[in-house]
Amino acid sequence: MTRAFNFSAGPATLPEAVLRQAQQEMLEWNGVGASIVEISHRSAEFMAMAAQAEAGLRRLVGIPDDYAVLFLGGGATTQQALIPLNFAAPGQRADYVVSGHWGKTAIKQATPYVDVNVAASSEAGGFRDIPARAQWQLSPDAAYVHVTANETIHGVEYRDVPDVGDVPLVADFSSSIASEPIDVARYGVIYAGAQKNLGPVGITVVIIRRDLLERSGQPRADIFDYRSHAARDSMLNTPPTWNWYLLGLTVQWMLEQGGVDAFAKLSQAKSALLYDAIDGSGGFYRNEVAPAARSRMNVPFFLPDAELDARFVAEAKAAGLLALKGHKAVGGIRASLYNAMPLQGVQALVAFMRDFQQRNG
Ligand SMILES: *Cc1c(COP(=O)(O)O)cnc(C)c1O
Repeated sequence: MTRAFNFSAGPATLPEAVLRQAQQEMLEWNGVGASIVEISHRSAEFMAMAAQAEAGLRRLVGIPDDYAVLFLGGGATTQQALIPLNFAAPGQRADYVVSGHWGKTAIKQATPYVDVNVAASSEAGGFRDIPARAQWQLSPDAAYVHVTANETIHGVEYRDVPDVGDVPLVADFSSSIASEPIDVARYGVIYAGAQKNLGPVGITVVIIRRDLLERSGQPRADIFDYRSHAARDSMLNTPPTWNWYLLGLTVQWMLEQGGVDAFAKLSQAKSALLYDAIDGSGGFYRNEVAPAARSRMNVPFFLPDAELDARFVAEAKAAGLLALKGHKAVGGIRASLYNAMPLQGVQALVAFMRDFQQRNG
């Protein structure tokens, strides 16, 4: 059996070393006589693993002590509803800056709970850029400002932290967390579904500046209350134990590889290699995102027509390069280059692109 290079946008490729360790420990974990999915989340062994995963994530991302870290089910989309419920008073304004599909879902989930102000949007331009900070129309009384650090579908990424003054900045980092250093202290809340860059689907990391947990928010059930989850170390109900374990292994692997500094270099090298191949193709391949906003994680591109796009995806798959079909909202091709994608995968993709162009250009 050979594992192909998997460019899936999510759930995405995991490090082979992590899968091998999970395979080895599948039947019996850590001397407990059972697998980790068959034991109580309140067992001493599981709780130690959970605490170790949190400590590893804190070290990897550089999360200060005055931030709580939650490990929750429900995905990033659920957090998009919980954020207004927890941090905005009923009917209070919240500012949203929209740079792609996931910024729009954040608004959709928040709309029942908060007075959404679209402070800026690049939708009219087809989400090919980050709205310039000077154009943002922020509300002085906003509960928070929400941004999407990396737009997974449109391939648009912030390269700077926007200055929003004293209003807490809330950022969806689902598809770029741990791919370069983050100055966590510049944010009020960072959230990320794990299935892009941190491990498996089914668990979401929410990093919250602790003073924000004092906000009364809106009437809500205990299970929707971040304060309650924080008070119970994310074990208010049964957490996704298997997912938490795989996340912990993935974080450990990233630390062993040299942490976010190493992945920042690798991401830079991988994305530059691919963008250079696209830009150097004489127009056969096209990426339409403004160069300064191009994502290092998700690279959408187009061939001259949809028929060639489809042939490219099929032949790439046959050549061991998986999941290159673009999202239906954008079309074309999309290559996702998360931390677990080695440089060799991108080298193989670029070599395939040259060959394909020679045969079809
Ligand atoms: C994948 C993704 C989401 C949605 O995550 P779910 O876990 O499916 O809810 C939200 N935001 C971004 C940036 C994503 O990449």
